[in-house]
Amino acid sequence: TQAHLDAMAKARALNAYLLETPDRALAMADASDQKIASGAGRPLEGIPLGIKDLFCTQGVTTTAGSKILQNFEPHYESAVSANLWRDGAVMLGKLNLDEFAMGSSNETSAFGNVVSPWRRKGSDAALVPGGSSGGSAAAVAARLCLGATATDTGGSIRQPAAFTGTVGIKPTYGRCSRWGTVAFASSLDQAGPIARTVRDCAILLGSMAGSDARDTTCADLAVPDFEAAVSRGVKGLTIGIPKEYRVDGMPAEIQKLWDEGAAWLKAAGATIKEISLPHTSYALPAYYIVAPAEASSNLARYDGVRYGLRVPGKDIAGMYENTRAAGFGREVKRRIMIGTYVLSAGYYDAYYVRAQKIRTLIKRDFETAYANGVDAILTPATPSAAFGIGEKASADPVEMYLNDVFTVTVNMAGLPGIAVPAGLDGQGLPLGLQLIGRPFDEETLFAVAQVIE
Ligand code: GLN
Repeated sequence: TQAHLDAMAKARALNAYLLETPDRALAMADASDQKIASGAGRPLEGIPLGIKDLFCTQGVTTTAGSKILQNFEPHYESAVSANLWRDGAVMLGKLNLDEFAMGSSNETSAFGNVVSPWRRKGSDAALVPGGSSGGSAAAVAARLCLGATATDTGGSIRQPAAFTGTVGIKPTYGRCSRWGTVAFASSLDQAGPIARTVRDCAILLGSMAGSDARDTTCADLAVPDFEAAVSRGVKGLTIGIPKEYRVDGMPAEIQKLWDEGAAWLKAAGATIKEISLPHTSYALPAYYIVAPAEASSNLARYDGVRYGLRVPGKDIAGMYENTRAAGFGREVKRRIMIGTYVLSAGYYDAYYVRAQKIRTLIKRDFETAYANGVDAILTPATPSAAFGIGEKASADPVEMYLNDVFTVTVNMAGLPGIAVPAGLDGQGLPLGLQLIGRPFDEETLFAVAQVIE
């Protein structure tokens, strides 16, 4: 723990941690030492972790990367972080993120962007770590924690993991409790770990997951022994390669890596099968209706009365307006406007209902593939390697949204997905592959990802 606190102090330029909690960390580490000395060590005893600042931590400021929650101190602990502390893990601090987890580069954080520890060969240009869990990914990649919590609504665990050469898994919707995690789009949000290895992810997810009556969408299922699944191998498994993921303009390096990934799995005993997921191209536009719709509803609670920032106005409506105008950043406001528009009477059927229908079709595509004997699906994790800070935070937000083209399908269908580092591009930057699994079959994903890693 002390070594990590020292490393964090030296790496503040990355802006990965919004808050360091050294006193709490050392107290937790001392408690762990005592547990170990007494022979009663728990599964994660003394393991120092970073917590994405979207998870409420009791008595420790939780901002969701937003000015509107700048001074919010929850009086409760999120289910996921509570599970980690129950198992003996140590909290190093709270990790930076895109504001309310809306973004793909960490450039929407109200507290400044995170800088990736990676550089292109022969260049000093600062790169994004991806987002929204960019603080989590950068901290793991820069060795500022042994693992981190993250959340994924449309790719926010897998894309930053791919950009930083780390492993990240978004489990099946319902595997982890959402209780005490600041909500973005409730039907899509899932927590998961980012860590250095597939095995570390399996161990962390085993602790984070589990049923919870306080989240009615949390599955009432026992948590499997994920770590045991890591070394199962892929013999006898059928891996699907969806032809619709061969999108226009995908760099040749990514296509090559995808082919190599399939070849590695084949060499390890898997059968490779080309499959079709015909509604893939509708996933991204439908996601950008469903996610803002749910976000606009979830963010209605930040009214200056119950949480965080309050900016006075001449009456209560004026106070709401002033608080929300000052408290939310541009991307969040854009999502609220899109969301309220697609939910408004007159447009609801044309946009929201239609997007929900598309969501069902996307889910059925996957169900058909799995019913035809596919055990897991292999795709690239992202359509490019990490880009430069400022490069895509341009006037056109759609360019940023295109980053999620391979990851949002998984959230729309509620499936588990893992990103695993698979190689470097010509400029020396990490590239990741994604594996998509059957509902509640994270075990197969760990086994297949281990072969690629
Ligand atoms: N980049 C996507 C978005 O901005 C996904 C974010 C996420 O998964 N939290 O909505």
